[in-house]
Amino acid sequence: MTQRTWGHGAIRLLRGNITEIRADALVTAANDGLRGGGGVDGAIHRAGGPEILEACRRIGGCPTGQAVATTAGELDARWIIHAVGPIWQGGNRGEAELLASAYRQSLRVLADLGGSSIAFPSISTGVYGYPLEAAATVALGAVARHLELETQPSDVTFVLFDARTFDTYTRALETLSASGD
Ligand code: ADP
Repeated sequence: MTQRTWGHGAIRLLRGNITEIRADALVTAANDGLRGGGGVDGAIHRAGGPEILEACRRIGGCPTGQAVATTAGELDARWIIHAVGPIWQGGNRGEAELLASAYRQSLRVLADLGGSSIAFPSISTGVYGYPLEAAATVALGAVARHLELETQPSDVTFVLFDARTFDTYTRALETLSASGD
C-alpha cells in the first residue's frame, strides 16, 4: 500500500478487489446505459446483488464523463457511484477531459451526499482500452486537484486489480508528488 497526504485529504493505492473494500462509496466503471457489464462493473453487481441493477434501470443511463449514485445493495458501503469513462479512440476525442470528469463528478456526487471516503477502480483501462500510464496520470491529477480545492470527500483509495496497474499508479503518484513539492 502507498499513501500520500494531499491538500485536505489523502490518496491511497491498494492492490485488490474493490468489492472487498469498506468505504462510504465504491465507484464502478459503468457503461452509459448503466446496464451492468464485465470487469469491475460485473464484480460490483454480482457482489452487491440485483438491487443495484434495479436502481440503474430506474435511472436509465448516464452520459460519458458523468456519474450517478445508487444503493450499494449487499456491499459494505453506503453507495455505489456509477462513473462512465470514455472509450479510448486514439486520444483526440476529448478522452482525457472525459476521464478527468468521470473522477471529478464521482467526487462531487459523494460530496453532495455527505460522504467522506471513496474507492475508485482504474476507470477506462480495461475493456475501454485507455492507455494505462496516461490514465493513471489523469486519474491521480483529477483527484489531487479535488483534494487541494475541496474538503470532502477527503479519503480517496484507488483499488487496483493487477500488479501492472498498481505499479503504474504507484509511479504516477510518485511523479505527481515530486512535481507538487
Ligand atoms: P472499463 O470498461 O472502464 O475499461 P473494466 O472493468 O474493463 O472497465 O476495467 C477497469 C479496471 O478495473 C481494469 O484495470 C480491471 O483490471 C479492473 N478490475 C476488474 N475487476 C476489478 C475488481 N473486482 N476490483 C478492482 N478493479 C477491477
